[in-house]
Amino acid sequence: MPPPAELGRNPGKAAATLDVTRHALLFMAALLLLLFVVASVGLVQIALQQNTRATQQSLFYVDKAIQTREKSMLATLRDYAYWGEAYQNLHVTVDYEWAYIRQNLGPSLFEDFAYEGVFVLDPQGRTAYAVVNGQRVAVSLAQWLKQDVAELLEQARGQTEDEEPVVGFVQVDGQPALLAVTGLTTGGDPQVSALAGPPSLLLFVDLLSPEKLQALGEDFGVTNLRLATDPVDAQATPALTLASVGAQPLLLRWEPAQPGRQLLYWILPLLALGGTIFALITWLTLRRAIASAREVDASYASLYASQQALAASEVRFRDVAEAATDWIWEADAELRLTYLSTRFQALTGHAASAWLGHPLGELMQCPGGLDVWLETCSSRATVSHSRQCHYRACDGELRTCHLSLRRIADGQAAGGYRGTVSDITEELQAQARIEHLLLHDALTGLPNRHRMQEFLEAKLKALPSAAKPLVMLSIDLDRFKPVNDSFGHEVGDQVLAEVSQRLRLALHEGDLVARMGNDEFILIVSGISAAEEVEQLCVGLIGAIEQPFEIDNHRIFLGASIGVAMAPTDTRQADELLRFAEIALYQAKGAGRSAWCFYANDMNERVIERRQLENDLRHALANEELSLVLQPRYSVNGLRMMAAEALVRWQHPQRGLLGPDSFIAIAESTGLIIPLSAWVLRAACREALSWSEALIVSVNLSPVEFRGGQLVAQIRSALEETGLPPGRLELELTENVMLEDAEGALVLMQELKGLGVRLSMDDFGTGYSSLSYLRAFPFDGLKIDRSFMTDLHAADDSKAIIQAIIGLGHALSLTVTAEGVETQEQLELLRQYGCDEAQGYLLNRPMPPEELRLLL
Ligand code: C2E
Ligand code: CA
Ligand code: CA
Repeated sequence: MPPPAELGRNPGKAAATLDVTRHALLFMAALLLLLFVVASVGLVQIALQQNTRATQQSLFYVDKAIQTREKSMLATLRDYAYWGEAYQNLHVTVDYEWAYIRQNLGPSLFEDFAYEGVFVLDPQGRTAYAVVNGQRVAVSLAQWLKQDVAELLEQARGQTEDEEPVVGFVQVDGQPALLAVTGLTTGGDPQVSALAGPPSLLLFVDLLSPEKLQALGEDFGVTNLRLATDPVDAQATPALTLASVGAQPLLLRWEPAQPGRQLLYWILPLLALGGTIFALITWLTLRRAIASAREVDASYASLYASQQALAASEVRFRDVAEAATDWIWEADAELRLTYLSTRFQALTGHAASAWLGHPLGELMQCPGGLDVWLETCSSRATVSHSRQCHYRACDGELRTCHLSLRRIADGQAAGGYRGTVSDITEELQAQARIEHLLLHDALTGLPNRHRMQEFLEAKLKALPSAAKPLVMLSIDLDRFKPVNDSFGHEVGDQVLAEVSQRLRLALHEGDLVARMGNDEFILIVSGISAAEEVEQLCVGLIGAIEQPFEIDNHRIFLGASIGVAMAPTDTRQADELLRFAEIALYQAKGAGRSAWCFYANDMNERVIERRQLENDLRHALANEELSLVLQPRYSVNGLRMMAAEALVRWQHPQRGLLGPDSFIAIAESTGLIIPLSAWVLRAACREALSWSEALIVSVNLSPVEFRGGQLVAQIRSALEETGLPPGRLELELTENVMLEDAEGALVLMQELKGLGVRLSMDDFGTGYSSLSYLRAFPFDGLKIDRSFMTDLHAADDSKAIIQAIIGLGHALSLTVTAEGVETQEQLELLRQYGCDEAQGYLLNRPMPPEELRLLL
C-alpha cells in the first residue's frame, strides 16, 4: 500500500494495482510450476541414471561372477593336473582304484566343487577316465557332451605348465557348461619321471544349471541370472555373451536392480500428488489473491478516497492556517500556548518558539483581563467567544486584534483551548482613513460638506444668540477657473491647497473651514459679536487670498468674494443658513471682485429672479425676443463714422427690454451664449451688408466661445452665409479669453486672422496682463475701458495711463479706440493724446438698426 502522499500524487495507481497483483501471482504460479516440472524431470532423470548405473554395475558383477567361477575352476584344475601322483596314476598308467576308490580324483570333485564332469583323455584323445555327477561312468567325453570339443583339446595339448589352462563355455542340453582343460604334468615331482610324447588331458565340466546360475548371480547381488532361451529374451538388456566354444552364442540374462524405478515408484505418485496439491493451492491462492486484490482494490479505492479527503482537509487546514490573515493557537488548560500556526511569526514578528509554553495572557491584553473573560466563557463550553484585544508585535508596535477562543471538547481530562487571532489594526486604520475621507476633502485635507454639515448642526444645537451669533462665510475664488484652465490642474490643485492653508490660518480654534467644491469654501465662525468684526475677518480673508501665489514659476493672482449669513439673526436652520450665505455670495460676486456681502432678506428674491431669468432665456432665442442695437465708432479727428458695434438686447415679455449685463453672465453659465452669439453674429453681418457705406461691424465674443472649439467654423459659416467680406468684421475680445488658455487662444486667433477678420482687445486696462497679451497676440486694435474715461477730467493718473496706452497701441500699430466718451472735454483730451477713434453716448447711444441706416 503506497503511503498517502503517493496516493495523493498518483490517484491512477489504485486501478493498476489489481492488474499488477494478478500478474505477479500468475507469474509466481508459473514459476513454481516450472520449478515443479524441472524438479520432476530431474528426479526421473536421476532415477533413470541410477537404473543405468545399476545395470552397468550388475553387468560388472555378472562378469565378475563368471570370472570368479572360471578362476576357481582353473585353480582346482591346476592343482589336480600338475600333480606327480595324478600323472603317475592316470597318464603313465590309469589306476582307477587310486583315482576313484581312493578318491584322489573321484566323487569329491562333484561333491565339493560341483563339477558334474571329470574326464581324463589319453594322448590319443580317448576317454581314459570319466566321473559324471560323482559316479564313475564308461561314456566318452563326446558322448556326454553330445558335441566335439577337439579344437579345445588340441589347444590344451599344446600348452605348457606355465600357461593358463584353456577354458571355455559349451552348451549342454540347453544349459551352459564351463569347461576347463589342461595337460597332466609331473608337477615337478622328482619321483615321477615324465614320459615322452603328448600328455593326457584332465578336463572339468561345471554344468551351470538354472539353479546354479541363479545362485551364482545371487552371490554377486544379481537377480535371476539365467541363460537367454527365447529370442525375445535374447534381444533384451542387460546381457552378457559367454566365450562359447560351440557355434551358438551363449547369452546370459538377469534382472538388474532398478533403484531408480524404486525411486520413481515412490516419488512419482508423491510428485503427482504434490503437483495436484500444488495446482490446487495455486488455483485457490490465485482465486483468493485476485478476490482479495479486488477487495483491496475496492477498499483501496475507498481508502484512497478517504485519504484524499483527509489529505484535502489537511491541505485545506494548512492552506487556511497559512493563507489566512489570522493565526491559529492552541493552549493547555492553564492557557499556556502549545501550538502556534506559521502565520504567527509572519504577523507578529515573534518566533513561535519564543512563545510556546508561555501563558496566552502574557501576549494578549484584553479589556478586563483574559482570566476574567475566560471565566465567563468556560460556563459555556464548545461555544466560540471572541473579543477585541491588544498585543505588542515584535517591533514594539501595539496592535489590535480579534481573539477567538473555544474549549477543546475532545473528552480529555485536562482539556485546553484553541482559537484564532485576526489582526485588525490595518482594518481599524483603514476604517479611520475611510471615515476621514468621508468627512474630508482629499485634495486639501479640509473637512468636506458632510463634516461641515455635522459641525454646523452641532453648533446650531448649542443655540447661538444675537450676542454670540454663529457666522457662516461662503467664499468663492475670483479668477480661479482661468488658472486651472491655463496652468493645468496640477497648478490649480496646488493653488487650492495653498488657499486652504491661508484660510485655515485666518481662523481661530473651534472654527471650521470646509471645502464645498471646486473653488468654494465655507467658514463657520463663532465668538464674533459685532458686524464690524465680521467685516474685519472678510477683509483679512480677502487680503490673504489676494497675496500672489508662487507656484511652478508662475505668479498667480486671485481674488475672493464672500457671502455672510448669521444664526440666529438670519435663520436657525442649517440648510437655510447655507443657502443665505450662498445668496449673499452671489450678491458679492455681482458687486465686483473681492467683495463681501451680508445676507439681506431681499437677496433671496433676486436669486429666485435670476433662476427665472435663466429659464426665460432658453425660450428667448426661439421666441425671437432678442434684438440688436448698434453703436457707431467715430474717428477722433473729423468724427467720421468708422464702425458700429453690435450690442444685444432682450425684449423680455414681462420685464421689458433687458441689457446684456443682466443676461450675458447667465447665458455664459448655462451655455446659451453659443446659440446667442451665433444669432448676434449673423444678424450683425446681415445688418452691415444693408449699410450704404462699407463700414466695419464689430461683435463681442465671450471667453466661453473660445473654449467651445467651434468658433472659427461658426464665424466662417456666418461670413459665407451672409456674404460679408471678412475685412468688414471685427471681433472684440476681453483679456479673459487669453487668461484662460493663452496658447489655445493664440492658435484660435491666428486662425481667425487667417479668415481675414479684425481682432480688437476690449475693455483694455481692466486686467493686469493686458500689456503682455497685447504684444503677443495678433490684435488690430484696442479699446480703452470706459472706466478710464470717468476719471479723466480729474485724475492725472488716468490721463497718464490713457496717454501711455495710446502710445503703446501706436507702437504696436493698433487702432486705439476710447470707450464711454460722454463729454466734449473727454473727446478733446483724446484728440490731444492722438487717440484714433472714440465711442460713447456723446457721439451716439446704441441705436436700433433702422436708425443707424437712416443715420448713414
Ligand atoms: P462693451 O463691449 O464694453 O460695450 C459697451 C457698453 O458700454 C454697452 O453697454 C454700451 O451701451 C455702453 N456704453 C457705450 N457708450 C457709453 C457711454 O458713453 N457711457 C456709458 N456709461 N456706457 C456707454 P451694453 O450694451 O449694456 O453692453 C454691456 C456689455 O455687454 C458690453 O460691454 C459687452 O461686453 C456685452 N455685450 C453686449 N452685447 C453682446 C453680445 O452680443 N455678445 C457678447 N458676448 N457680449 C455682449
Ligand atoms: Ca465691446
Ligand atoms: Ca468695452
